[in-house]
Amino acid sequence: MDLGLQGKNAIVTASSKGIGKACAETLAREGCNVMLCSRNSINLIPVADEFIRNYGTNIQWFECDLKKADHIEALVKETFRVFGSIDIVVNNCGGPPSNFILNYKEDDWDNAYREILLSVVRITNLVIDSMRENNFGRIINITSVTVKQPIQRLVLSNVFRNAIVGFAKTLANEVAPFNITVNNVAPGYTLTKRVYDLAVEQSRLTGKSHEEILHSFTQDIPMKRLGKPEEVGDLVAFLASVRASYITGQTIVIDGGYVKSLI
Ligand code: NAD
Repeated sequence: MDLGLQGKNAIVTASSKGIGKACAETLAREGCNVMLCSRNSINLIPVADEFIRNYGTNIQWFECDLKKADHIEALVKETFRVFGSIDIVVNNCGGPPSNFILNYKEDDWDNAYREILLSVVRITNLVIDSMRENNFGRIINITSVTVKQPIQRLVLSNVFRNAIVGFAKTLANEVAPFNITVNNVAPGYTLTKRVYDLAVEQSRLTGKSHEEILHSFTQDIPMKRLGKPEEVGDLVAFLASVRASYITGQTIVIDGGYVKSLI
């Protein structure tokens, strides 16, 4: 299937590692020009070099802390400057810390609100007029299975990712007449550095090996394995494509069957 992504311009946020990197890589492989971003150029430069070597499209990077409005403004401005237009936005971010509810300080709530929810609102506000003028756009938000089934000790995800779902559905209806689609991708346990580090931390606390901990994560997953970041990348590339032109306002779970609900 030709996804029709050749020559499209994309921003993928939080894309130096993990799921964000995999989404950026799939888009680059399919012929997109991609703006990468994360807080630190040391992590971005090798990723950009690798994609340029492997895929030959226009790959750019920009240092951006998604918690900060002026960073996001600068990121979007630079993307318009280098690409001329923005067709696709993949809104990804760093994962919030895990804890019991009463242990979070107000700053934790504020940071999670700004990084998880407000960054999506801010980027959308900066790109949507141009997408309307071009009569084309794809906005894809990386959320989590927590939008279907809350996970204990991840209340910041349980709360703010659901807010994204409300935002995305409302936005999807507003911009549908302009051929702009807005969808959410909700990954389950996916083997990235974040999940690996989580296993190492739990290994330290429990005395079990990190392999045992990673194995224990798979026990509630009917497929009995963790997801691969590139599997999320493939779904995102399809939603970004011209082939997904009639899918909007949806949340698509990619979790090996982990979520227990019917819909
Ligand atoms: P990861 O830690 O492997 O990568 C996170 C990326 O975000 C890195 O590139 C990092 O540099 C960047 N980042 C972190 N804070 C940032 C900030 N303030 N500004 C800009 N960039 C920032 O994480 P991952 O596992 O790929 O997860 C990505 C997202 O998907 C997270 O929000 C996570 O909660 C969510 N998620 C992950 C899983 C999973 O199992 N891996 C499952 C569901 C949801």
